[in-house]
Amino acid sequence: MASRALLQRASGRGALHRIHRVTVASTVYLSKNFSTPNNIENSRNSSTSAKRTKELSEMSEEEVSGLKVKEDRLMRDLHETCEWGKGERWGSAPTETGMSRLSLSDADKKARDWFAQTTESLGCVVTTDFMGNQFAIRPGTKDGPPTVAGSHLDTQPTGGRYDGILGVTAGIEMLRTLHDNDITTSFPVGVVNWTNEEGARFPISMVSSGVWAGCIPLSHAHDLKEVGTGTATMKSELQRIGYLGEVDCNHETVPLAAHFELHIEQGPILEAEERKIGIVQGVQAYKWFTVKVRGADCHTGTTSFSHRADAMLAAAKMIVYSHRAAAKRGALASTGILQLKPGSTNTVPGSVDFSLDIRSPDDHIVEEVEKDCRVAFAALAAGDNIDGLNDHFTPSSKSCEVSWILDTHSPATKFHPDCISCVESAASSLFGNDTEALTKPMTSGAGHDSVYTSKRVPTTMIFVPSRDGVSHNPVEYTRPEDCAMGAQVLMQAVLRYDIRRAEGKV
Ligand SMILES: [Zn+2]
Repeated sequence: MASRALLQRASGRGALHRIHRVTVASTVYLSKNFSTPNNIENSRNSSTSAKRTKELSEMSEEEVSGLKVKEDRLMRDLHETCEWGKGERWGSAPTETGMSRLSLSDADKKARDWFAQTTESLGCVVTTDFMGNQFAIRPGTKDGPPTVAGSHLDTQPTGGRYDGILGVTAGIEMLRTLHDNDITTSFPVGVVNWTNEEGARFPISMVSSGVWAGCIPLSHAHDLKEVGTGTATMKSELQRIGYLGEVDCNHETVPLAAHFELHIEQGPILEAEERKIGIVQGVQAYKWFTVKVRGADCHTGTTSFSHRADAMLAAAKMIVYSHRAAAKRGALASTGILQLKPGSTNTVPGSVDFSLDIRSPDDHIVEEVEKDCRVAFAALAAGDNIDGLNDHFTPSSKSCEVSWILDTHSPATKFHPDCISCVESAASSLFGNDTEALTKPMTSGAGHDSVYTSKRVPTTMIFVPSRDGVSHNPVEYTRPEDCAMGAQVLMQAVLRYDIRRAEGKV
């Protein structure tokens, strides 16, 4: 039903859609029709007297570097789209609110409609797949999969205006700049809006790029139930808002040549070092565990320290130990969930479960921290004095037991050297001699859709500064000039990839 609604909506948009719909049966981008839609040919023919289409491959390095995004237009797009799903207010200016645009909500539908209409008006063909991922593709002079800028338009329930939204609107600013300057790339280029990246409403983050990459089964994703008391699933909500799409969600059905993602850093490093662009080398590895500590419940008033098996006290030592084990290896260890039973002021808890999240750019270091913690936690549960954690404690005749459950393992992601090199040369086209001072090679601390795209196609990311390193919060903020610099580097990186591809260098 809903997909018919989508087709009806799409059919109002003219010839491009009709051309597109007859070509989606197999690989979308390899169709002849796709690479040369009629309206592009027509606009080229009809506008030859007014302005000549420039081919990117024939432009000099200076001309390419001279192509500039427009800061005011980018920020207008970003803030206009933030009218849909506005969140908590934190300042008095009209744009000083956070965002609450949960995936596949009515507000998300409006942002999606805007994405489709805007990119179609810029000469793109928009394909929506079975996960609602939107691929807006602008033809090049040759056939082939597109080089894309991708990110997401959904937000956390108390999120900000920049996480994901900047990456998509910067991609659209790239399309506007190419359109304004009447430039044709050698191969298609485009922008992707990935569905439910945040995992806030449907509880797997990056789920739709995960399905596209073949790492998560489509049926599993479709069956995901929304968090909370509602009964909606991803599939039912995709149908309800008319975004179930017309092609399979699959890297073979909708292939890409390369994926570039501009994102806010979500950390404090660029701001603290007064740098403008993070050149992201990869995403750090992480392992998530549930650690279960079992002792014995007992009365807090009648049981002496020397007769307790205090699961909470043991867990507290373990959490402190995990911090030390990670810190001495330059890794991170964190506990975000703590459940203790029975949960009574005058009962020593006999049962504690806590989460343990271990991260490092290096898989081996994550393994080392885990191994170290497993040995130490067992000893701490038994009552041994490990790393001075029993100093000044009363020894007990009773001990606890500890067990581990592995919840998630995400190995380190290394981004592609060809894409990283394009970002480096894009940054130096903007900063010249100041490139080294204003950029920094970085590892992403958080997961992104680029983690999944990197499993199938050359991928990298570009970071811009986050004020105070804050994200997933209404006050999340990146200065307009920093957003524009990120968008400029994004566009230049995509164009450089296209140029190198045409030269057979990537
Ligand atoms: Zn994001």
